[in-house]
Formats: sequence, C-alpha cells, structure tokens
Amino acid sequence: MQSELLKKNLIEIKKKLPSHVNLVAVSKTHPASAVEALYNMGQRKFGENRVQELLEKQEQLPQDIEWHLIGHLQTNKVKFITPFIALIESVDSEKLLLEIDRQAAIKHRKIKVLLQIKIAEEDTKSGMDAKLAEELLEKYQSGIFENIKIVGLMGMATFTDNADQVRNEFRYLKNLYEKWKDKYQFDTLSMGMSSDYEIAVNFGSTSVRVGSAIFGERE
Ligand SMILES: *Cc1c(COP(=O)(O)O)cnc(C)c1O
Repeated sequence: MQSELLKKNLIEIKKKLPSHVNLVAVSKTHPASAVEALYNMGQRKFGENRVQELLEKQEQLPQDIEWHLIGHLQTNKVKFITPFIALIESVDSEKLLLEIDRQAAIKHRKIKVLLQIKIAEEDTKSGMDAKLAEELLEKYQSGIFENIKIVGLMGMATFTDNADQVRNEFRYLKNLYEKWKDKYQFDTLSMGMSSDYEIAVNFGSTSVRVGSAIFGERE
C-alpha cells in the first residue's frame, strides 16, 4: 500500500482514539517497507503474531521500534525474542511464563507480559480462563517469576456482527482487569482490533491492536 494511504488510515484511527489509548499497528503479512512508512510518521508500537516474521522485520528496521508479540508463542521460540521484545501480549500458560522468566534472566532483562484471557466463544482463539490467570497472579505475587512484569490482560472478542456479544465479552475482560488492577499494579488492558476497537475503547481498553484498518486486507 502506498504511504499516502497508510498515513490517511493512521490519522483516521488516531482521531477516534482518546489520547491515553495506545495504538499497536499490527503489521503481520505486510512488508517491512510499510512498517517503515508508518515509523516515519511517528508510529513506534508494532505487533506481530509469528516469531519468524517478527525477527526478519526487527533486523531490518529501526531499533527503537517497540515490538509486541500478539500471537501464540511456543516455548522453544521464546529465546529468540527475549533480547528485544517490548511486550509479550499472548501469555496463555504457566509453562510459557516459566520459560520467559528463564530466558529473561539469561538476558538480564525484566520482560513485560500480558496474560491472554479467552473471552471469545470460538475454539480457535487461545487464552487462559480467569481461574488459571488468578492462580498465576498469586504465584507471581509470591515472587517466583522474578524476571517478569505482568502489566495487564489481553483478549480477543468473537468475530461476529452481534455487537451485544462483543460488548459482553469486553465487559467481562474489563471487570477482571478492574478486579486485579490495583493489587498487581496493572496499566494495560489490550482489547480491540480493526472491527471492534471503538467498542473496546468504550469498555476501557488502554491499548488497541489494529491491522487491516491501517495496512489494508491481508492475503
Ligand atoms: C491479526 C491480529 C490483530 C489485528 O487484526 P485486524 O482485524 O487486522 O485489525 C489483533 N490482535 C491479534 C491477536 C491478531 O492476531
């Protein structure tokens, strides 16, 4: 896509976002040149869902980009991203949390993560349930994940035209966030994509992950 159109899309979306809401531009499947065009307009936060693609772009692009991993992460790939990742949004198991902690220690970094909660009804969407999240947060508070900072929650709503269902799912996640926010000093509630970010913002999202509305449709 031409950079003029990217710029127009970025400006349109930013107009609809309150200033306290972060915009993560989801660049998966789009070339590094498109990321660079947005970077030149001041965009710094980008999201990728596959490790291989993330590594390729991270190597080619400016080092001050804040990369967010937003897709399912296999434990054997954690070590490749721990040197630079700004936020891992898609933590869905204790095993993964343990491996991030281990790799963060090796790299002498404290790595920020979000717990991904399954709020959609589709089985294809990953994430943990609230009960597991609560158990992990209790372990976290006991100090066993020393090299990790859990800064909040992430969720994906069901892909549907039924706005009531999307609202219910976002409301559920917002309530969990509010329940734990003070106790664990959360600052990030990541919810909302191209089709539903305005609804998500109304339900208290602090960070939206927008791909196709900026970069155009994916193949
Ligand atoms: C692809 C993706 C997005 C962005 O989706 P769009 O509909 O293109 O905005 C957001 N979050 C996650 C987890 C994704 O995988």
